[in-house]
This record gives sequence, structure tokens and C-alpha cells, in this order.
Amino acid sequence: PKPAVSVIGLGMMGTALAAAFLGAGHPVTVWNRSAARTGPLTAQGAIPADTAAEAVAASPLVVLCLSTNDTVRTVLEPLAGQLTGKTVANLTNGTPEQARDLAAWAAKEGAGYLDGGIMAVPQMIAGPHAYVLYSGARDLFDAHRETFAALGGTTYVGTDPGLAALYDLALLTGMYGMVMGVMQAYALVRTEAIAATEFSELLVPWVGAMLGSAPAWAAAVDSGRHLTDVSSLAVNQEAFPNLLETFAAQGVSTELFAPVQPLLDRAVAEGHAADGLSRLVDLLRTGPGTG
Ligand code: NDP
Repeated sequence: PKPAVSVIGLGMMGTALAAAFLGAGHPVTVWNRSAARTGPLTAQGAIPADTAAEAVAASPLVVLCLSTNDTVRTVLEPLAGQLTGKTVANLTNGTPEQARDLAAWAAKEGAGYLDGGIMAVPQMIAGPHAYVLYSGARDLFDAHRETFAALGGTTYVGTDPGLAALYDLALLTGMYGMVMGVMQAYALVRTEAIAATEFSELLVPWVGAMLGSAPAWAAAVDSGRHLTDVSSLAVNQEAFPNLLETFAAQGVSTELFAPVQPLLDRAVAEGHAADGLSRLVDLLRTGPGTG
């Protein structure tokens, strides 16, 4: 028989996780603050627990997927003394610091702790494109890897429990940069009689082609060699005002893109005019907010 799993938190994501464990043949115990959400899972064979303590007692592996890590603390802290020997796998989105604090708290309770970052929407769970990032003690990950495989790919990123959140947030950072650029572009074309759907046929291959440079930028970042024959910071600094002026002239907010100009100005002022855009990674590590 496959090992038992308890799932705490049956929102959109937690429900998908519990269903995937059931689908893979694991005995699954579930608990949610609002008990009504256990219904569809018990219909699929899950065992409903009346309390979070009961769910923790039911399985050696306890998977949490709650709204925030504050909620995780709200649920776990009253269970102090009842987690000894358990492995807690917290797949709630959070920060590296929150993950490290929770790992330290779990260790004090005699429990193992793995942190996870889910790189999928609920509908993708258990499908071919879903994966979860894990960090924390390697032996704990190895012990439960087969169980985690029910959710999708298992990507282990290191013993520091904060690393899964760091990777997760870095991936989201890339996503938000792309999404915000796409929204700004749609806002701009909609100031004229251009359908966003029609424009998207140009935008998607363009952004895709530009993203093809990301591995070359990464190589420049890792080696510190930023000289370019593609597109210099000087050229980008001089062209960028055209974007900001056009947003303003067409009545599109500049709030998303205005902060880019002083960054480009600083790059040139600090002597990097001939370098490529990859040089900005260095500047972003010394700018406002970095202390
Ligand atoms: P939902 O809003 O659907 O679910 C939130 C869950 O948290 C519910 O089980 C809710 O219980 C519970 N909860 C909230 N407050 C409390 C509390 N004070 N005490 C006990 N339980 C509480 O969110 P999702 O399932 O979509 O997301 C869950 C986590 O997964 C988040 O951290 C999210 O960032 C992450 N995630 C989600 C993705 C997605 O596409 N949905 C993708 C990747 C990560 P109740 O039902 O009683 O309200």
C-alpha cells in the first residue's frame, strides 16, 4: 500500500493536491476550516478529519496549502507537542524568511520541514506540465519524493528551506515582468482603433523571440562580460523616452515604465554605455531598496 498523506487546506489548490494523491492511490485524510469543502474529496475516497490535530495524527506526511504563511502558523501553532516525528510539507506561497522561520519552529517541535513552491494552477496538478519546487533536508525530500510525484514534477533546489520560495518568487518575477509589459502594450494599441486580439498575433512571436536571448544574458551575468554587439545600454537609454512620451501623449499611464528610465540613465552615467542590457543585473543589486 502507498503511504498515507494528510492535506490541510482545501481551497482551489489544496483540493487539487488532495485529489491527485487520491488518484495516485494514497490514503488521504483531509481537513479544512470550512468543513463543507471536504465533501467532493470524501466522495472520491478521502477521510475527513474533524480537527487539524486529527489530520496531523493520521499520516506521517502532512501537506499544507493555505492562503498565507500567517494562516499556516494560525493552524499549526495550537498543535505544538503533536507534530513529533511528522514531516510537514508546506506548499503555501510565501517568502524565504517565512519558510526558514517555520522550519526552525518545526525543528523545535521535533518535526521535519520541507517548503514547496507550486508551479502550476490547480487544473494542471498531476498533469505533464506541473511541477513543485522543494527545499529543506535532502533525506526528508528523498523519503517522500514518490508521494510528491503524484502532483507532477519534483524539483529539489537545496537544503536551505528558504530556497523553494526564492526560486518560486524569481519565476513569478519573470512572469510579472512579461505580463505587465503585455498589459501596457494592449493599453497602448487600444488608444487607437486596434483590436488587442489582432495585435497579439504580432506580440506573441516578438516577445517569444526576445525571450530567446535570456540564456545569453544569463551567460553574461554569470561571467560578468556584458559587452554587446546586439543592443547597447546607450541606444536603449536614448530610445526609452519615446515610450514614455508616447504613453503620455496617448493617455496611457506611465506608472509601470517610468522607473526604467532612471535605471538606464544610471547605467550610462556609471560608465556602462557600451554594455548590453544584462549589465542592469549588477545595477539592480545596488539601487534603491537594497540598503
Ligand atoms: P484559496 O483561497 O482557494 O484557499 C485558501 C485556503 O486557506 C482555504 O482552505 C481556506 O479555508 C484557508 N484559510 C484561509 N484563512 C484561514 C484561516 N485563518 N484558518 C484556516 N484556514 C484558512 O487559495 P488557493 O487554494 O488558490 O491557494 C492556496 C495557496 O496555494 C496560496 O498560498 C497560493 O498562493 C498557492 N498557489 C495557488 C495557485 C493557484 O493557481 N490557485 C498556484 C500556485 C500556488 P476556508 O475554505 O475555510 O476559507
